[in-house]
Amino acid sequence: MSETEAFPGTVYLVGAGPGDPELLTVRARRLLDSADVVAHDSLVHEELLDSIPATIRLVDVGKRPGPDGQRTTQEEIHELLVKTASEPASVVRLKCGDPTVFARGGEEAEALAEAGVDCEIVPGVTSAIAAPGVAGIPVTHREHASALTVVTGHEDPTKPESALDWAALADTVAAGGTLSILMGVGRLPDNMAALESAGLDPETSVAMIERATYEDQTVVTGTVATITDRAERADLSPPAVTLVGDVVDVREAIDACMQSLDRQLITTDQYSQIEGD
Ligand code: SAH
Repeated sequence: MSETEAFPGTVYLVGAGPGDPELLTVRARRLLDSADVVAHDSLVHEELLDSIPATIRLVDVGKRPGPDGQRTTQEEIHELLVKTASEPASVVRLKCGDPTVFARGGEEAEALAEAGVDCEIVPGVTSAIAAPGVAGIPVTHREHASALTVVTGHEDPTKPESALDWAALADTVAAGGTLSILMGVGRLPDNMAALESAGLDPETSVAMIERATYEDQTVVTGTVATITDRAERADLSPPAVTLVGDVVDVREAIDACMQSLDRQLITTDQYSQIEGD
């Protein structure tokens, strides 16, 4: 039996965007409306899941512990995708943001290729760029930043085996680049300390955008030196994007026209007021 006969289905690794269902691509919408199965992560907007026709089988493969404390392992996800593709089905593997940015889309595509399953990557709007964007912060700017580096903030920066060179990242920002840190809430203090001890000016601007494009989107601004304390006082929790660099200051010039800033925004000025009280 040929591979095509064994797996007549196709798996689409689809980006759902940062949250707001309107930020889905047209292709993603079309696939979601015509799929047989949609296997999604936990970080996909409830409204988007509700918009999927009731006839389509929805499988939650979120890796967060459920009520029964169960987790779907990456291996189980691979098995599920391969198994579902053994039927002539259209299978959408829905991931938040872009499926190839810290989303294990590459690993899933490799597993599918190994099994001989047809697969397609359908890009999505990544939170690494969209979260600052909706908060009025352009990730590059002719006068302020000519490079963008996207990293995970999840690793322990003090571990010698860390895959990230924080001294090099500090140099990138000092040289006029922007750093977009995903999954960086838990290790925020360590990461800011790593940048500072690598010589980055502690006055360098930082913004954190929590739950970007959701109704309760919150933006906290500060500097490498102050952001940890401010994030803590704002009770900021994942998911959030941390942006480091001079582009953060552009927000002040354009926020008057930014409708999305109607959402909760904790600005430096408000903090000064709190501190002054
Ligand atoms: N593939 C996703 C990233 C997945 S890793 C993408 O391209 O956006 C999960 C991290 O993404 C979170 O820890 C957070 O840093 C970021 N993230 C995803 N959605 C977000 C949102 N709506 N607001 C802020 N950060 C978000």
